[in-house]
Amino acid sequence: MLDCAIIGGGPAGLTAGLYATRGGLKNVTMFEMGAPGGQITQSSEIENYPGVFREGMTGMELMEPWPEQCMHFGLKHEMREVKRVTKEGDHFTIHLDSGDTQEAKTVIVATGSTPRRAGFPGEEEFFGRGVSTCATCDGFFYKGKPTAVLGGGDTALEEALYLANICSKVYLIHRRDTFRAAPPTVERVMKNDKIELVLNAKIKEAFGGPMGLDGLKIEFKDGTERVLEVPGVFVFVGNNVNNHVLRQSDGSYLCDVNDNGEVIVDLKMRTNVPGLYAAGDLRIEAAKQVVCAASDGAIAGMQALEHVLEHQ
Ligand code: FAD
Ligand code: NAP
Repeated sequence: MLDCAIIGGGPAGLTAGLYATRGGLKNVTMFEMGAPGGQITQSSEIENYPGVFREGMTGMELMEPWPEQCMHFGLKHEMREVKRVTKEGDHFTIHLDSGDTQEAKTVIVATGSTPRRAGFPGEEEFFGRGVSTCATCDGFFYKGKPTAVLGGGDTALEEALYLANICSKVYLIHRRDTFRAAPPTVERVMKNDKIELVLNAKIKEAFGGPMGLDGLKIEFKDGTERVLEVPGVFVFVGNNVNNHVLRQSDGSYLCDVNDNGEVIVDLKMRTNVPGLYAAGDLRIEAAKQVVCAASDGAIAGMQALEHVLEHQ
């Protein structure tokens, strides 16, 4: 039986493995269906991870040394997709892609979240080269330049306000003429001179060349069109939390989740199920930053260690 099964090998899962094994757990496996590193490996530049500040550092370069360090103390990696986690009595069962299972005393779920794609032509082609889903991460690259934001929820409006502090102008593109964001946020957006509302509109196409995005073709509900020349567009059309491993055969979740499917944890990353922890982007109130995911992982790893020691 594993002392700890970690699901997901992004910053949260890797750091959980480092802390659990370095703290003394002997039998810890991280199930990561791809190469370890997580979603930050898609980013063309990262400059807000403390202690690492080098011009032009990619997310892949940031994460490159992590697996070696995190596995140095005995963490094992299995390149497998976890389908489901169940609990029977005191222990958990990890159900793997090929149908086989492994048992574990503790489980840390660190499967992250996936920003939804809007689905317009060019979105995938220019993702990471003008199309972004993270203003905190990429907004600074458009300092003094015009940008666009897509969406009408709290995230889109809050990030439009954030970008308006950095960029010369922000086009806020929304498919309706009313917003689902909180009224005070809508009011702040309305009062911001740098934000131009582009309503009843959708992105018909993102266009550009080898250097990245050049602009967006917008189509309005009345059939008219407009071109926005912007080097960056931020897509905020909601997030999918990767929580499906917690789904049970009857449709319920193994532990408590909120209305958005985010796992409810306390400050020690404990769910309401003893021995089950969640860390990183899939937990409630996640800041969705590498440094925060790593911090969650460290806390969850230490908690798993404590749980095993207390129950042996
Ligand atoms: P993830 O990084 O999402 O890792 C989860 C891992 O779990 C993935 O590797 C996935 O393959 C694996 N997984 C999922 N389901 C399963 C399963 N069922 N079985 C096995 N494995 C599974 N943050 C910053 O701090 N600064 C930035 O500049 C920055 N820029 C970003 C740019 C982009 C384009 C993106 C997309 C994100 C950026 N972020 C940035 C956010 C940052 O990447 C995330 O907050 C962070 O990676 C979350 O870490 P995590 O470990 O919680 O999840
Ligand atoms: P959201 O509330 O689901 O809003 C998504 C927005 O994207 C909606 O305006 C939606 O349009 C639009 N949209 C969806 N699919 C689209 C597509 N394919 N093309 C174009 N537009 C599309 O998501 P969110 O803003 O990320 O917020 C998620 C949750 O977190 C919400 O509950 C929110 O209140 C909460 N949140 C709270 C705060 C805060 O309290 N400060 C901050 C951020 C998020 P429609 O409106 O037409 O459906």
